Amino acid sequence: MADQECIFCAMVAGKIQPAAKVYEDGEYLAFLDINPRNPGHTIVITKKHYEVVLDMPEKEAGKLFELVKRLSVSVKNGTQADGISILQNNYRASGQAVPHIHFHVIPRFNSEGPPALETILSVKRMPEDVLKKIAESIKSGGGSEPKHEKPKETKKKDLFEDF
Ligand SMILES: [Zn+2]
Repeated sequence: MADQECIFCAMVAGKIQPAAKVYEDGEYLAFLDINPRNPGHTIVITKKHYEVVLDMPEKEAGKLFELVKRLSVSVKNGTQADGISILQNNYRASGQAVPHIHFHVIPRFNSEGPPALETILSVKRMPEDVLKKIAESIKSGGGSEPKHEKPKETKKKDLFEDF
């Protein structure tokens, strides 16, 4: 079901045109980001509206990633990039700007920096007993078709306060 307010659903419906389409079939659309981090920065979306990857049936998420993988080869070859970053954010806390599932496929070049997301998010060192508690909590968090609650936009809490 298309979301009336969703800019990506509007693209799928043909109400607005992406500047440059890279790929389209019955289920997927890929186009160049209008705010490219590098030349060839490509957005890959499902035509069906899902807000986040957590909402997708696993089989559909797998199929989407097959396309992302294939387009990553095209983007790398087409831009003669030295590397490819594949980014996928879920919910505002992660930096998701458009609430419709999308992957970023970003060509990367040896001449640029910083090289990885890990250099933007600072390291948060914690003792082993805390790591074990976090791992236990993740293991009990459900697996295939997990139920999850939408984060409340106003909720603020310290990292790891539950652990
Ligand atoms: Zn949408």
